Amino acid sequence: MKTKLSPSRKKIRTNGNGASRVSRSVSSKARRMLIDGEWVDAVSGETFATYDPATGEIICQVAAGDKKDIDRAVKAARAAFESGPWRKMTPSDRGRAIWKLADLLEKNLEEFARLESLDNGKPLTVARVADVPLAIDLFRYMAGWATKIHGSTFPISVPYAPGARFHSYTLREPIGVVGQIIPWNFPLLMAAWKLGPALATGCTVVLKPAEQTPLSALRLGELIREAGIPDGVVNIVTGLGETAGAALAAHPGIDKVAFTGSTEVGKLIVNAAANDLKKVSLELGGKSPNIVFEDADLETAIPGAASAIFFNHGQCCCAGSLLYVHKKHFDKVVSGVSAAANKIKIGPGHQPDTEMGPLVSEEQLNRVMGYLQSGRNEGARPVVGGGRAGKRGYFVQPTVLVNTKPGMKVVKEEIFGPVVCAVPFTDPMEVVQAANSGIYGLAAAVWTRDVSKAHRLASELRAGTVWVNCYNIFDAALPFGGYRQSGWGREMGAEALELYTETKAVCVQL
Ligand code: NDP
Repeated sequence: MKTKLSPSRKKIRTNGNGASRVSRSVSSKARRMLIDGEWVDAVSGETFATYDPATGEIICQVAAGDKKDIDRAVKAARAAFESGPWRKMTPSDRGRAIWKLADLLEKNLEEFARLESLDNGKPLTVARVADVPLAIDLFRYMAGWATKIHGSTFPISVPYAPGARFHSYTLREPIGVVGQIIPWNFPLLMAAWKLGPALATGCTVVLKPAEQTPLSALRLGELIREAGIPDGVVNIVTGLGETAGAALAAHPGIDKVAFTGSTEVGKLIVNAAANDLKKVSLELGGKSPNIVFEDADLETAIPGAASAIFFNHGQCCCAGSLLYVHKKHFDKVVSGVSAAANKIKIGPGHQPDTEMGPLVSEEQLNRVMGYLQSGRNEGARPVVGGGRAGKRGYFVQPTVLVNTKPGMKVVKEEIFGPVVCAVPFTDPMEVVQAANSGIYGLAAAVWTRDVSKAHRLASELRAGTVWVNCYNIFDAALPFGGYRQSGWGREMGAEALELYTETKAVCVQL
């Protein structure tokens, strides 16, 4: 089998002795892709490497799918949709299969947490209590929806047909074959967010995981088969974005494309899908304002603000990366968040005391270091952090920047690392205006003891999620998605089902 490394990574050495038990078990063979219920190599025979971001060493090789493999997978998904048992199955049986997948995931929770920690770098302790349980819960929530997707009946009047009687109703039908492209920050959870509603509605899928983190999706593919979900319903093609991802977004056999990732690539997806007007849903970037008011309870706001940015190393689309603090509390909050940053134990994800692991890749490390440099060049000052942590792996110090100005890159753009810009304010109206002024609108938070102010701001902030006196609260029942350039459509909750169904109006003259 030929090996092809992505150009930016050719210099990284292979890990001969393996970092952990999971690492050894996955490194014994190149991982294949799941197409039509079979584990297959790429048509080209090529592979790419996935890396341990704590060391920069190769974990294993993975099949490098491209246009030809996408084409095979789309054909399999189309055949499974048109003539396989999945659509004809009762909703109850479909729901049971999704529930079984959740049970299998739960049975293998520890293995998935280890895989996620190894491939992404996140603390094992976090993957165990957040990533994997949230994915399990999402599948269970969507399993419940399988039996509750229905249309309505309508008493209609039809003024130009006096005296005629009609029976009119709507049907909710699966949208068809769906291409799903997911990122690396929550690899398993993003697969669950995408697969759950697609399966509940009876769609079939071609899923492309991120090149940095393909391992948990491939293992999930094994469980999908074990759960009895028919061949071809879920196809998993590993490969690079510019080859496999682009081919999937542009493929004429796809009815809808669902994407999570950068706003930049989101725009490419829209262009690719425009050719045949595929349905598109997008969950994109963010620069989320986190506002601490004069009347906030600082005992909760300070640790809340720290975890809003430092959770998952700041690699969250909804990270609270713009911390607005009322002038009266600015110094206290900045010093509290900085003290929290100083205490964070940085290390490889598998170590039990690690609270923050490495960024996912050398590319992300360079991107975040570039933002830190740009911040300094433009006059921002790190109160804490501000640089790389260690020389091996992709670790970055948790950083609090002050002395920022509205036009700076660090204030306007998504950094996607553990870097927060703290900005003082005095006028609540002005801070809401500032919070609403960027190109994004994914999430926002307010910290206040005034309940009417909280509700008023919740309606004034232009964001898909507003947290009040909390941050990063997710639930399968709560829709998540963005205003403006943060995306189109909502994931999770009943809203997600809208993205995977077509509504058909039926009118019968009686
Ligand atoms: P991308 O948007 O490039 O990656 C997300 C997914 O899109 C991956 O599966 C990727 O594949 C795929 N992809 C890349 N290019 C194309 C393409 N031309 N056509 C179709 N699919 C494509 O994000 P990056 O990994 O490059 O991260 C860059 C920035 O994006 C981050 O710094 C962050 O700001 C933002 N981001 C936002 C996320 C979110 O949750 N909203 C998640 C991740 C990143 P592959 O990885 O194989 O190239």
